[in-house]
Amino acid sequence: MEFELTETQQLIRQTARDFAVKELEPGAGDREHKGEYPFELLRKMAELGLMGINVPEKWGGVEAGVVAYSLAMMEIARACASTAVTMAVSNMVAETICKYGTQEQISTHVPKITSGEYSAGAFALTEPGCGSDASALRTTAKKTDGGWIINGTKQFITSGEHAGVAVLWARTGGPGAHGITAFLVPKDTPGLKIGPEEKKMGLRASNTVSMIFEDAFLPSDAILGEEGKGFSVAMTALDGGRIGVASQANGIGQAALEAARSYSLDRKTFGKPLSEHQAIQWMLADSATELEAARLLVLQAAYLKETNKPFTKQASMAKLFATETANRVCARAFQIHGGYGYIEDYPVERYLRDARITTIYEGTSEIQRLVIARLLIKG
Ligand SMILES: Cc1cc2nc3c(=O)[nH]c(=O)nc-3n(C[C@H](O)[C@H](O)[C@H](O)COP(=O)(O)OP(=O)(O)OC[C@H]3O[C@@H](n4cnc5c(N)ncnc54)[C@H](O)[C@@H]3O)c2cc1C
Repeated sequence: MEFELTETQQLIRQTARDFAVKELEPGAGDREHKGEYPFELLRKMAELGLMGINVPEKWGGVEAGVVAYSLAMMEIARACASTAVTMAVSNMVAETICKYGTQEQISTHVPKITSGEYSAGAFALTEPGCGSDASALRTTAKKTDGGWIINGTKQFITSGEHAGVAVLWARTGGPGAHGITAFLVPKDTPGLKIGPEEKKMGLRASNTVSMIFEDAFLPSDAILGEEGKGFSVAMTALDGGRIGVASQANGIGQAALEAARSYSLDRKTFGKPLSEHQAIQWMLADSATELEAARLLVLQAAYLKETNKPFTKQASMAKLFATETANRVCARAFQIHGGYGYIEDYPVERYLRDARITTIYEGTSEIQRLVIARLLIKG
């Protein structure tokens, strides 16, 4: 078994790390507390290739693979989880268009995502009435002359306001998964309105909005993939997306562990640094061990995807374990900071708030367990 990273993987990780340390980390807390969307930083990330890490070079990507993507995501999330989620969805959208799109669709949108001309891509699946149960979606697409008329609301869409293109799922047929089709929706589509920005617990420097379709017109060639096959487009995209969220969670957890370690060396109680109290050492040791185990699971899932092997179960295991781990690690880091952890001057309260959503979006922990159990029982 080979654990060494390739030169390309090391280069991508180093590029992401340098950018994260020099440019993202310094203002991350401030941006998050103010809810400032980082337009300029996202553009710089695109210039570095971070918006199309697993996208072919001919479409402006760096074609470095899924392991490199995962490593870069960990580095970016360690500095700024808000930026990391924006990057994760943009990469997922670019990859999905490359996999299912026509040459025309790919050449129209993907180079604009990878170059930063689009500030982001968006993935519009969730609705007010359904999240986990995505096959129950109610947004409709009705055939009309030369295209489709879309009606319905998408809820909690990351970058929905700023994305140059969104992948939208709508019902073109009967109930259930078979009646769903995926579409590409450019920004400023007539009949598309953007709802007010959600006031979130964490990730406040990312953009989360509803997208409201009122008789919005999409031309016939806006269909992504085949009519009635949209649900499998969504599920395939989410399998890969889960590796992104698991990597994001691992990066946040790593940042929390580093903060806890450093604080435990400085802060003295009962005449010695916190790091010399065994209870604190055990918290640090448990966090480091669990993060390492999560990282191996995540990289294994990334490797399987990269080598075109089945990876659905491993991606769900990685997401379940890495996101639950990040929450435990952040809670321990917070505890180690005592009262100071509760104060905005220290970053651990942000890590704790940012980590919280990772067990929810792109499939909750309960949904990951359903996926794992289903595949386990099927054999
Ligand atoms: C900040 C943020 C960003 C997001 N970004 C996006 C985005 O870009 N695009 C997008 O499409 N969506 C996005 N979402 C939506 C997110 O993916 C959903 O919130 C998530 O899938 C859960 O759906 P729900 O909120 O409707 O919860 P529900 O589906 O209503 O679930 C509620 C609870 O019940 C549990 N549950 C549900 N069904 C079962 C079951 N069968 N067995 C056991 N337990 C079950 C769930 O695990 C959960 O704990 C985002 C959400 C947030 C908060």
